Amino acid sequence: MDISERNGMLSRGAGTEATGPGFATRAVHAGSHVSLNGTQPTNVPIYATSTFLSPNASMLDAVLGGEQAGYVYARYANPTVTALEAVVCALEGGAATVAFGSGMAALHAALLLCELEPGAVVLASTDLYGATHTLLATLLGQFDVQSRFVEMTDLAAVEQALAEEPRPRVALFETVSNPLIKVADVAKLSEMARAAGALSIVDSTFTPPPLVQPLLLGADIVMHSATKYFGGHGDVVGGLVSVADGEREATLRQISKLAGAVLGPFEAFLISRGVKTLALRVRQQCENAAALASWLSDNPRVARVHYPGLPDHPQHEVASGLLRQPMFGAMLAFEIAGAEREEVLGFLDALRLVLPATTLGDVYTEVSYPLMSSHREWAPAQLRRAGITPGLVRVSVGIEDIEDVIADFEQALARGV
Ligand code: PLP
Repeated sequence: MDISERNGMLSRGAGTEATGPGFATRAVHAGSHVSLNGTQPTNVPIYATSTFLSPNASMLDAVLGGEQAGYVYARYANPTVTALEAVVCALEGGAATVAFGSGMAALHAALLLCELEPGAVVLASTDLYGATHTLLATLLGQFDVQSRFVEMTDLAAVEQALAEEPRPRVALFETVSNPLIKVADVAKLSEMARAAGALSIVDSTFTPPPLVQPLLLGADIVMHSATKYFGGHGDVVGGLVSVADGEREATLRQISKLAGAVLGPFEAFLISRGVKTLALRVRQQCENAAALASWLSDNPRVARVHYPGLPDHPQHEVASGLLRQPMFGAMLAFEIAGAEREEVLGFLDALRLVLPATTLGDVYTEVSYPLMSSHREWAPAQLRRAGITPGLVRVSVGIEDIEDVIADFEQALARGV
């Protein structure tokens, strides 16, 4: 089979197991085939070049005019980045994927793609990543784009907020919220948004594609901070936007070209390498998270565990339908019984193996303290209303032997609190 046939089989349109190769196969093979005068490197090289020379001026003209595929200037496209976009597109089951320099750049581009003019309304989940809140309030707010916030797990409230005038142009929500690990009913919310004439943007950073493919559930746009699970090793910053409708690709690429927050080839290489083991990592991370959640639930020092795999989680049923079973994600939160800030800081300091890091999705198990990081600016009353207690700790579970992680939590809970 020649290289272009191989790419065709594995890349665009190979959205589901029903119609093409399985998830892990696509993760390993899609997008990774390029030809160098007929020979094929196993892996896509890092094209560290700002410019590409065409064999003649008429080809350069055709590529610049968009009549022919090709490369001219690395802010427009780079083969290492294209390879990443192809594999992610195949994993999301989308029509097109564009890579960005960070998750925030991806989110910004996704919002710009919805053609938000002054007076337009973004319906956003109350539980959003802090910088997303700030982006809505500042970068969009300064152009008089309004944000309306709603609890996305309350479908009646969402219905009402979608019907309110002026009608929202877009509904923006995260599959799994930070830090309380609430789960959004992506299919239902996307359908409700569409019925109300709004586009849907899903930030699926906490649930990469082996867990859920929002575009196949009816979402219009899905974005990820590739810094997290896609990269997976804590060594790169990047972002990804995928769209269900191929007609949006040209506008999305235009936004990328003009805003210029493009992904570099070295970063694209690292994320592509991460993608090859995404299925394996996520499976192990979810298995580990289920074991840790169960152990924490039985620990007398722990008042409450927020993990969708536990039957008492408020969205356990939604999560069972949303996430590829038997996985329930690898993000969880727990409340250290009666703990205030000082005690939680003591717990963080007592950890020997688990990393106190304000990131997630890595091979390492990482804990973050919302009161100190993501929710630092929140007033005590706001925190209370949201249900974020001073003893709440968020965990991103890694791929270590889970017995070692549990032993570390055990000694830190005993010593630090
Ligand atoms: N969305 C979510 C849910 C996040 O957690 C983050 C970062 O933590 C982002 C977006 C932003 O991603 P980045 O840091 O890659 O810009």
